[in-house]
Amino acid sequence: MKKVLIVGAGLGGLAAGVLLQTKGFDVTIVEKNEHVGGKMMPVQLGEYSFDFGPNTITMPEVFQWLFEQAGERPEDYMPLVKLTHHTNNFFTDGSQFSMSIDERKMIQQLERLDPFAAEQYPAYLKEVKRIYDIAKSQFFYRTFSSWKDYTNPSLLKALLQVRPFETVDTFHQRFFRNENIRNAFNRYATYIGSSPYTSPATFSLIGHLEMNDGVYYVKGGNPRIAKGLGHVFQKAGGKLYTNCSVTEIIVKNKRAVGVEVNGEEKIDADIVIVNGDLLKAYPALVKEQDRPHFKNKKAAEFEPSISAYVIMAAVKKRFSQLIHHQVYFSQDYKQEFYELFQQKTLPTDPTIYICNSSYTDNTVAPGDNLFILVNAPAVKEENQEEMKAYREVVYRKLSQFGLDIEPSLVHERIVTPYEIEQTFGAFKGALYGVSSNRKMDSFLRPSNVSKDVKNLYFVGGTTHPGGGSPMVTISGINVAMLISSS
Ligand SMILES: Cc1cc2nc3c(=O)[nH]c(=O)nc-3n(C[C@H](O)[C@H](O)[C@H](O)COP(=O)(O)OP(=O)(O)OC[C@H]3O[C@@H](n4cnc5c(N)ncnc54)[C@H](O)[C@@H]3O)c2cc1C
Repeated sequence: MKKVLIVGAGLGGLAAGVLLQTKGFDVTIVEKNEHVGGKMMPVQLGEYSFDFGPNTITMPEVFQWLFEQAGERPEDYMPLVKLTHHTNNFFTDGSQFSMSIDERKMIQQLERLDPFAAEQYPAYLKEVKRIYDIAKSQFFYRTFSSWKDYTNPSLLKALLQVRPFETVDTFHQRFFRNENIRNAFNRYATYIGSSPYTSPATFSLIGHLEMNDGVYYVKGGNPRIAKGLGHVFQKAGGKLYTNCSVTEIIVKNKRAVGVEVNGEEKIDADIVIVNGDLLKAYPALVKEQDRPHFKNKKAAEFEPSISAYVIMAAVKKRFSQLIHHQVYFSQDYKQEFYELFQQKTLPTDPTIYICNSSYTDNTVAPGDNLFILVNAPAVKEENQEEMKAYREVVYRKLSQFGLDIEPSLVHERIVTPYEIEQTFGAFKGALYGVSSNRKMDSFLRPSNVSKDVKNLYFVGGTTHPGGGSPMVTISGINVAMLISSS
């Protein structure tokens, strides 16, 4: 029985672990944190539960499929609630726009706010579905391990059909004339940690997931997905060690032969899979001389996706104006991305996202559990005073929109990009691995297979097919399939 060692129990690592264990491999997962799920992390503040990380679940079939492969019923681990009318958007001119999978309701709103878009909306839904279908059939379920994979003619043909040469923003200009409405759709670029003004229109496919397929919530909290995968992995015989750090991947004769844990104990393995962010974990765990194709300089050249400034606010009341998801937009969305990616500063006028899962599920908190997220630059160092002070910027802006949170606060926890880097080993605190602002990085992400070290593989947001909870899970599935078929 081949021994597989997985570094990290994020969704990518768990997916690879569950699949390989059920296919007869002897799998061990070593995770440095106490919880499984990596960025999908449960947080408890008194009686209030929060979902740190993925608040918006799309493509639930990816997780469901994994549970089924392990012979389990997905609904026992992740009971889903589909949110039909899922997101309210608020703009500085006082206008509002609600996102719903009910096409008729969308057109009714657009007739008032953007008559051109009302006419175009059915074509928009059709086009994003077309792009999604091509991406799903040609890109998602592939591992890219050699140049042959990239130069495959059917892949190149498909690539040309998914609008790689226009940006998310220019694509949306075809359908939405009202800038506020367009920005509500442009925000999807942040789901891959990138800017709508530079990332390829291919990623407008996220619109298909949210506006055709729907947004989901797991009753009891989204981290139940990761907890459930950890449970079925162990039930299938997999070994899971938490609170343990892998400190080195042992390479002999250009082959991964095991790992060192906590600087002392060694575990032998035939295959090693790294789920920790490749850009941080590969240089940290494999000596530079053993990876000539991935020197430290190369790792440093990648642009990280955006990070986040998060406030988890437990409040005593339930705000009547809040639904499950809402977004309070900045006045100048373009400027915000200039500040994030060029100036690498926190936005002076941020767009603020709030998830209030207690709206759908009142068992998770006695009042509202507000997960407040502002896009932040991914940087190595940060000024603690500036971070503390930014809290006021966020609360002040929300009160301008009529949401006065501070007087009702019961508990509060702030998480900054630096903490995200430290807690999850995320390169510069990036949420989604490498950004997709540059076309090369969108379509040619670091490979799932090490070029230099035999039997060393990578899963997670920095590799193919990309960031976001369903994509990293697919990366784990892809690598497990590759290993089990070779
Ligand atoms: C604030 C926030 C909001 C988000 N919102 C959404 C959303 O709404 N929808 C969505 O789909 N996605 C969202 N994401 C992104 C999503 O969470 C990630 O893309 C995904 O969870 C990353 O999974 P991963 O497999 O890449 O691993 P990660 O979650 O990065 O996990 C990697 C694991 O490896 C461990 N590790 C690293 N190095 C070592 C080592 N040396 N030894 C042992 N263990 C190690 C880490 O501790 C970590 O647990 C969000 C992320 C954040 C942070």
